[in-house]
Amino acid sequence: MSLAAFDAPHAAPSLIRHDWTREEIRALFALPFPELIFRAQQIHRIHFDPAEVQISTLLSIKTGGCPEDCAYCPQAAQYNTGVKAEKLMSLDAVLREAKAAKDGGASRFCMGAAWRSPKDRDLDKVCAMVEGVKAIGLETCVTLGMLDGAQAQRLKSSGLDYYNHNLDTSPEYYGDIITTRTYQDRLDTLDHVRDAGIHVCCGGIVGMGEGLEDRVGMIATLAALPVHPESVPINMLVKVEGTPLDHAAPLDPLDFVRTIAVARITMPGSMVRLSAGREDMSEETQALCFLAGANSIFYGPKLLTTPNPGRDRDMALLDKLGLRAME
Ligand code: SF4
Repeated sequence: MSLAAFDAPHAAPSLIRHDWTREEIRALFALPFPELIFRAQQIHRIHFDPAEVQISTLLSIKTGGCPEDCAYCPQAAQYNTGVKAEKLMSLDAVLREAKAAKDGGASRFCMGAAWRSPKDRDLDKVCAMVEGVKAIGLETCVTLGMLDGAQAQRLKSSGLDYYNHNLDTSPEYYGDIITTRTYQDRLDTLDHVRDAGIHVCCGGIVGMGEGLEDRVGMIATLAALPVHPESVPINMLVKVEGTPLDHAAPLDPLDFVRTIAVARITMPGSMVRLSAGREDMSEETQALCFLAGANSIFYGPKLLTTPNPGRDRDMALLDKLGLRAME
């Protein structure tokens, strides 16, 4: 696709499209870097205040012992990563963490459990957590693995705002990363969540040894969903000793920034979240990600089981860049 073709009337920057072809997305990745960032900024400014960043906090409410085999994940029981399997946290302990997150400036509280899918008795407990966190005045998000339609409805009736379920990568590369459930399983869970009226948080991971075409395929799948996910987390792989991806080839940070920019352009109204991997990212790379249209971060010293920059460091960076937390 030539630069001129992108400017065709049907591709006006403010238009939300669900018919992005892989060829168009490939062409975006191939744009000269300044052109790509310029276009991402243009689109970002139509939909969002470029000085605002939405801040979410993520708490692991049930850590480790997961029966799935996601090759990047230290919580998979079959990898020897030193993460101990724990029980579901108590309601009181979760609400204490939520209150601290609110006091620290978070607007959304995400709770993650290392399950293949929740059992009904666990779901009841998570629903009580959702109700309690909402009562504190935070938006709620949970990530609990696969859901059926009835489970999604149950979460909706507890007041849940967002459900996170990532596609992780392209349909073609997916089998190299996870074998215990299929890409279609993931798409089915996303359908159940959307049908229940819960907002969708869905993105993927870059740096797992995938090729450019897999990044193209991942964005193409996300942008082709019937409704774009309201949140699109783009993670940089955090390599954890003991996981199969511990020795994945390093990713050029500019390739990560490009992925953020292409997500911003193809899903203009979504919050694009700069997620895992910030601990190893320079301030300059993070600044480029914000320029490329990222407008959400996870905040707090830990992301489930992996390190994340401390709150003070994040606030100093946002200050330095003249960015502020979205209300
Ligand atoms: S990413 Fe989630 S489903 Fe996969 S192994 Fe880790 S906790 Fe389990």
